[in-house]
Amino acid sequence: MNGRISRKTLEELRLRASIVDVVSEYVELRRAGSSLRGLCPFHREKTPSFFVSSEKGVFHCFGCGAGGDFISFVMQYKKVDYREAVEELCERTGVEVIYEGGGGEADVLKRLFDVNRFGADYYHKVLFQKGNPARTYLKKRGIEEDTARSLTIGYGGGGRRGLAREIKVEGLDVEAAIECGLLFQRRNGEVVDRFSGRLIFPIFTTAGKIAGFAGRSLDDSEPKYINSSESRIYKKKNLLYGLNFSGKFVREEGRVYVVEGYMDWIIMWQAGIKNVVATCGTAMTSNHFRALKKVTDKVILLFDGDMAGRKAAVRSMEPAYEAGISPLVFFPPKKRDPDDWIREVGVESVKDALGGAKLLMEYIIDAAAKKFDLNSISQRLDYLKLVGKYLKNVRDPVEKEMFVQEIAAKLNLTADDIRKWTAKQEGDVIAAPGIDSAEKALKIKPEEAMVGFLLKHPRCAAREDVKMAISAIEDTELAEIASKLTNEPDESGTILESSINREGEKLASKLSKAVLLYEQFFPEEKEGDLEKILGFIALRRKEDELARIISAFKEEGDRAKREEMLRLQMKLKKDIEETRKNL
Ligand SMILES: [Zn+2]
Repeated sequence: MNGRISRKTLEELRLRASIVDVVSEYVELRRAGSSLRGLCPFHREKTPSFFVSSEKGVFHCFGCGAGGDFISFVMQYKKVDYREAVEELCERTGVEVIYEGGGGEADVLKRLFDVNRFGADYYHKVLFQKGNPARTYLKKRGIEEDTARSLTIGYGGGGRRGLAREIKVEGLDVEAAIECGLLFQRRNGEVVDRFSGRLIFPIFTTAGKIAGFAGRSLDDSEPKYINSSESRIYKKKNLLYGLNFSGKFVREEGRVYVVEGYMDWIIMWQAGIKNVVATCGTAMTSNHFRALKKVTDKVILLFDGDMAGRKAAVRSMEPAYEAGISPLVFFPPKKRDPDDWIREVGVESVKDALGGAKLLMEYIIDAAAKKFDLNSISQRLDYLKLVGKYLKNVRDPVEKEMFVQEIAAKLNLTADDIRKWTAKQEGDVIAAPGIDSAEKALKIKPEEAMVGFLLKHPRCAAREDVKMAISAIEDTELAEIASKLTNEPDESGTILESSINREGEKLASKLSKAVLLYEQFFPEEKEGDLEKILGFIALRRKEDELARIISAFKEEGDRAKREEMLRLQMKLKKDIEETRKNL
């Protein structure tokens, strides 16, 4: 996509996404004073030195120095660029990305959607022409005419060039149709239909626009299904078939069934189970789960009962938990798919049986137990390793504890044994929250305190005593930020945001460090405490000065003078502590 992401999009995103929500998806955070802390996802550690300020919207790791705001967190965590991070966050929070400049992005997208709509209507019209094999096929599969109409099902019956011709006649954008994957260009330059001879299912966005298509062969010849190729509007990892139709039913029922096939979706929908979505020929991704989470937390994977379906369900575990969903699972008996199952036993029996869906993790614990001989010690260990791998994904402590007890029961061990074992495997024994030695060793530099203060209290920037304090800042980058903050009080957080995102990681790290150190050192401070803080800063400065002098004396070997300076330093340190206590 060309063009810049608009200011308005970023503002909207900032309203909807909070740093705590974004970071919590990957890091377990606990309160620590006015900040939150957890184990750093960017370096290995056992004692949490990763801090988040919900008030200023930044994070900082005192271990490895990683720092920034919620956008830079996603950039660093997912190793994507700024633009991709913003796009992903917008998608997650349901903010529409508006681009500006770069030549009419909206127009380009509109051309793609338009050509898809035209293709869908064209193929739909062909479906209802007399005597074509697709209608016979639909009848055979039990798909009613009304259903075919409401889903705009189509048939690629106009020969190899049917749609290509129509698109040209209509004066539509052939390039757009190629980009959408409706048409493709052969090596000899000839442009032909991609879905000719196939039954065609348009795939809608939640807003009801057509993002792409799936085409099924009528005679089961391979490939049974082909899909639109990935394009600017068709992204498999984000799209769920049928969500545009079923969204309101999902809300009503408070749960959603996820099936693997278009046919499964259609048959369930027709049978009156309307809270259903299907994946578009791909594994479930965390984006899929996030899209579902907007409508419900209760997701039931209703995958095929064969080995492939079971494996696909198990593979959904990680993305589901990544999106904060603890999925349930149900497999139709006798290796059937949902479509066959409904036909064979009827919708009422299916509805009854679905009540027996269990948590995916529970399924894994049970199914794995059957795979191993739990009387053999080595197989017991293998079992534990396998379920431990999945258990790692479960973040909710209560839920995790219940699974731990299940696993313990299977192995005839105590829950405590399992807890110890998993803690060791995961290698992250989380220390109790509170000040630890690493943190005590931290010092806030005067300039960091100053910048932290200015960011917290932008209106104070105009005061003479503040300007004086700023003029003494030595670090050039922080001095520059501080002078920006003095000229233009950063009440909306714009300076912080643009400095973090536009000036490189080093400055992002410095700024986030200043904010989080400030919160740690002055947890309860108010604007009125300015004098005390300025006093503290002055003291810290003197202390730094002393430290320099002391080391100089050390080299000179002048013991008496050095001791005198040390005494002065002790006194200053006491003063500093007093000042802090009084804040
Ligand atoms: Zn770190």
